[in-house]
Amino acid sequence: MHRKITFPILCLSFIPLIGLAGQAAAGSAVAPAAPALVTAIRAGKFIDVEAGRVLANQIILVRGTKIEAVGANVTIPDGAKVIDLSKMTVLPGLIDCHTHLADLADAEPLNVLQRTAVETAYSAIPNARVTLLAGFTTVRDVGVYRAFNDVAMRDAIARGIIIGPRMYVAGAYITISEGAGAMTGLSPDIQLPWDLHYGEANSPWEVRQKIRELAHRGADHIKVLSTGAVLTHGSNPKSIEFTPEELRAAVEEAGNFGLRVEAHAHAAEGIKNAIRAGVASIEHATLIDDEGIALAKQHGTYLDMDIYDEECIQSAPDTPADFLQHDRDLAEAQRRNFTKAVRAGVKMTFGTDAGVCPHGINARQFAFMVKYGMTPMQAIQSATVNAADLIGHSELFGSITAGKSADIIAVNGDPLADIRELEHVQFVMKEGQVYEAAGMSRSGGPGLR
Ligand SMILES: [Zn+2]
Repeated sequence: MHRKITFPILCLSFIPLIGLAGQAAAGSAVAPAAPALVTAIRAGKFIDVEAGRVLANQIILVRGTKIEAVGANVTIPDGAKVIDLSKMTVLPGLIDCHTHLADLADAEPLNVLQRTAVETAYSAIPNARVTLLAGFTTVRDVGVYRAFNDVAMRDAIARGIIIGPRMYVAGAYITISEGAGAMTGLSPDIQLPWDLHYGEANSPWEVRQKIRELAHRGADHIKVLSTGAVLTHGSNPKSIEFTPEELRAAVEEAGNFGLRVEAHAHAAEGIKNAIRAGVASIEHATLIDDEGIALAKQHGTYLDMDIYDEECIQSAPDTPADFLQHDRDLAEAQRRNFTKAVRAGVKMTFGTDAGVCPHGINARQFAFMVKYGMTPMQAIQSATVNAADLIGHSELFGSITAGKSADIIAVNGDPLADIRELEHVQFVMKEGQVYEAAGMSRSGGPGLR
């Protein structure tokens, strides 16, 4: 979609990253590092997502990977690189709270059996890249069929080996046997490799055991499947899977390791079981009822509703027939319930289930969130301040504020007048590094550090 970036730019943006990593690793054996580069961004319009307002003609000072100062009267130091976005609208890097970057984006989950884990990992590299270039500088990635492929992808991005958003990963799906997060649809005599059924658990203590292992092996949060699923063979989205005892065990055990839990849930009872157990967010929340909405409000539970996906599920030529059957009627109900939840003032985040729709078109969901009841500002806040709060790192990202990571994007028009401007992000900076700079000088211009 937005392939404006050229290979030389990527190469050039990469070299300093790897160079810095090398210096850090060498420790005291090398001379002190040069002072961090300073960049000043001139923002014509600036979306202050914390206050819910738009400011004109702001200057954002970036030193190294962090934002140092923001304001109309910030002095630009001598020698600073200036990026002129005075004709654009500047806002924080977007955050998608429900992605599956490390999986194949196939409609048929069983296709994963036709590839080795390594082949899947390499095939998934472009998923991370297109997501970042679309303006999403952080994702909460909520499960993977090949356990720990997401941990490896997160670390590869953090080390600068591949390009992608900052990832917070689940490590695996925690699911009942043959449940919503399991690899189903196989004959009973097929024995799956360990990583394709790693997260199966069938009692509170098995749930705790999985969480202990996942916490030790690098998970940032825990994904549990509270009800059946749409995109799983033999599953019924309206069925209850984990019991309240198992969900409570998950939240308590995850809490012991400082981790939060998100629950996949379509059915009303499964949603309420998870909210009462104390999960941080409900994924999909398709059939949430009035009691569920009231409970979410009372508990401060985020709803992370993927209301655009229907467009992809019904239009993809290869969506399996049983998935279409599950999906029927659910999508419209989910959109109606989204409207109710927005009106009730429930906390909401932006989560697309990217992988169902192709990676990189995440921002198309914004227009649906506005169509079904949010103001454009609320939709932007759901993907910035709210998302950072749900992930638990408001101190690091989610707004353009001094001290936070320099995760900054820009669009041509005014997304508050036309939210679809977010589908055409023109400028992407993550941790002070420019990855996308459409229409700007390719030599010596922004990003060419
Ligand atoms: Zn999902």
